[in-house]
Amino acid sequence: MKALVLEEKMKLSLRDFPIERDEVLGPRDVRIKLHTVGICGSDVHYYTHGGTGVFQVKAPMILGHEASGTVIEIGAEVTSLKVGDRVCMEPGIPDPNSRATRLGLYNIDPAVRFWATPPIHGVLRPSVVHPADFSYKLPDNVSFAEAAMVEPLAVGVHAATKAQVRPGDIALVIGAGPIGLVTALSAVAAGCARVFVSDIDDAKLELAAKLGPISPVNVARQELAREILAATGGWGVEIVFECSGHPAGAQGVFDPLSPGGRVVFIGSQVHPIHYDVGKAMVREARVEHVFRYAHVFPRCVAMLSSGAIDVKPLITRTFDFDESVRAFEIAASAAKGEVKMQIALPQ
Ligand SMILES: [Zn+2]
Repeated sequence: MKALVLEEKMKLSLRDFPIERDEVLGPRDVRIKLHTVGICGSDVHYYTHGGTGVFQVKAPMILGHEASGTVIEIGAEVTSLKVGDRVCMEPGIPDPNSRATRLGLYNIDPAVRFWATPPIHGVLRPSVVHPADFSYKLPDNVSFAEAAMVEPLAVGVHAATKAQVRPGDIALVIGAGPIGLVTALSAVAAGCARVFVSDIDDAKLELAAKLGPISPVNVARQELAREILAATGGWGVEIVFECSGHPAGAQGVFDPLSPGGRVVFIGSQVHPIHYDVGKAMVREARVEHVFRYAHVFPRCVAMLSSGAIDVKPLITRTFDFDESVRAFEIAASAAKGEVKMQIALPQ
């Protein structure tokens, strides 16, 4: 089938790619015709760097893991879905019998197979076979484009869950990329009274400010901790969500944090980053880390359907499948003001 293939670092092609072995429908699987696939920072990073950390692209790999589509065939034992159902899919398939999965921590199962993470292929292709248990039926009022945002949104919802947001908390999100913005939306939906978002891109901050009770801070011009402390009567924010993965972000993470506050590290790091344990200690800060998400897709779908969260403003551009290579070139250029770009497959 025709797929968007990362041949090697900086070389993409839209070509016929044989993946029959992956396409056998098991009794608990569904076959899904892909509709919309979002471009993730990790896809772009594989394209521009050929890998991230322990995951290196050693053979041609299909990109894409933020997806929605329509069920076109069901396995013999599937009862939760039927042909014609619209779905979004959780891209990581854990080993159901692993110790981590049995503990409920299936996202950190070392054996998890995750789309577009070498050597597992992604879904920028016409169809995919996926476990029914990791495919979630969409209500009529959630579009395919919104549904393809569930994957990144799940990261924000998982982070807000880990932070144990309480009604009226004030939070800071460092970084206004797609993950920063879905984290801000999740923090507001979880009950935060106000969320500060920091970045150096005015266009992204302008968008952030329109998403709810969100106050932008441009750290190219403003000193972050000083702004936050001034706005909170010297107390600081109860929660800091670090979504930049940048060493400077990590370095300053405790300065705007209130006594007894929580910090959640979300952004992935290109190089090891460090934080000041002494500053964490005097605040008795609780530090959490998230890796992807677990158990949150149904919550995300429910919030999109009820209107508790609106991700539509984050989708800034949509390309046809035939324009996929160009879409990635634009994504790799870090075009100003672009948040989430998506690719629509032919139906
Ligand atoms: Zn993603």
